[in-house]
Amino acid sequence: MAKQRNMGETQRRSDNLVLVGYFLSRCSDFSDGKKSKPPPDLNVATWNDAYDLFFIQLSEGRPSQPFRHSLKGTRDIFDSLFENGRKGWSEGQKRGQELSLRDTRIHERWASRSDDELFDAVKAFIVKPEKVRKPDWTRDELLIVLDYHLKHRDFDPRPNSPEITELVERVAKVGDVLGISKQDTPLRSAEAIAMKLRNFSAHDQQYTANGRKGLQNGSALEAELWNCFSERVDEVSRLATRIVEASSSLVASEAIADDVEFEASEGRVLTRLHLSRERKRSLVERKKKSVLKRTGQLVCEICGFDFEKTYGERGKGFIECHHTYPVSSLSGKSKTKLSDLALVCSNCHRMIHVQRPWWSVGELKAVLQSSRNVSR
Ligand SMILES: [Zn+2]
Ligand SMILES: [Zn+2]
Repeated sequence: MAKQRNMGETQRRSDNLVLVGYFLSRCSDFSDGKKSKPPPDLNVATWNDAYDLFFIQLSEGRPSQPFRHSLKGTRDIFDSLFENGRKGWSEGQKRGQELSLRDTRIHERWASRSDDELFDAVKAFIVKPEKVRKPDWTRDELLIVLDYHLKHRDFDPRPNSPEITELVERVAKVGDVLGISKQDTPLRSAEAIAMKLRNFSAHDQQYTANGRKGLQNGSALEAELWNCFSERVDEVSRLATRIVEASSSLVASEAIADDVEFEASEGRVLTRLHLSRERKRSLVERKKKSVLKRTGQLVCEICGFDFEKTYGERGKGFIECHHTYPVSSLSGKSKTKLSDLALVCSNCHRMIHVQRPWWSVGELKAVLQSSRNVSR
């Protein structure tokens, strides 16, 4: 029996891994009641953190979860020797017979040596995993999750449910097109998405009414989205659909730097779609041509600014276009008509986009008009 296990173990566990398991078991911290904690020398809070320190050196291509299991299993085997605060070899002997030959040899080799020496021996296998901070959640991703929450307000799906699996895929499309996730690896795990759902639950009085709490400590952006959108269930639903659709139709490489600076309430994907529409050269040229032909000039539809009049030859033919269609209604499939575009000067255009929610041409015009009346 012992021999059989020994053969299997040899394949799965290297000598070094067994040594580390031995160290973890023997040098466990029992100072705090019955539950053992990782050796203080490792300076980590949880056992998983302890296992992860050895992952890079000893995992031999295994994914992190099976590696943790393997190291925990090794530690468990030796725990029969050191249980309840280092009983020592003789007390552990009963269960010590579960040890394989190799495990026993390691113990015999190290039994008379100090913990410090042991730690020195395993130190070589430690590589501190870099704390890689994931990019913050985008509006787009959160809107997709919010949409789900608003449709299932009383229900916390488990991370391994089909609903969450589908959400992971929808959210991953956004990560891909915005270039914040690595190809083929969804940035947001099922657990992370389930957690976000519970963050939204915490804002939701319908959910918290009967004493449930949801998950506190959500981000400021979640609170902002909740305040802005929670009453607009249908709009959020349309928006989420459009974001996912548009993510599929946009090409990740079409990065537009301004999509962060000018981000609309509706998120970066639709912002990018908006900016790409109103900057499409051929379309802008056609728009300017048609207005010039009809009116003989290119002036801002909001403030009347005329680049050629002000800057002479240099300003001739210059003006920007703003796409007037509501961002929330933009779809990746629809075509832009010339009548969707408004001619605007650079100042007015920036003022439309400078804050959330974006203003319409009419709204900005009204503000400009009233301030002109005041200063008159
Ligand atoms: Zn203007
Ligand atoms: Zn615009």
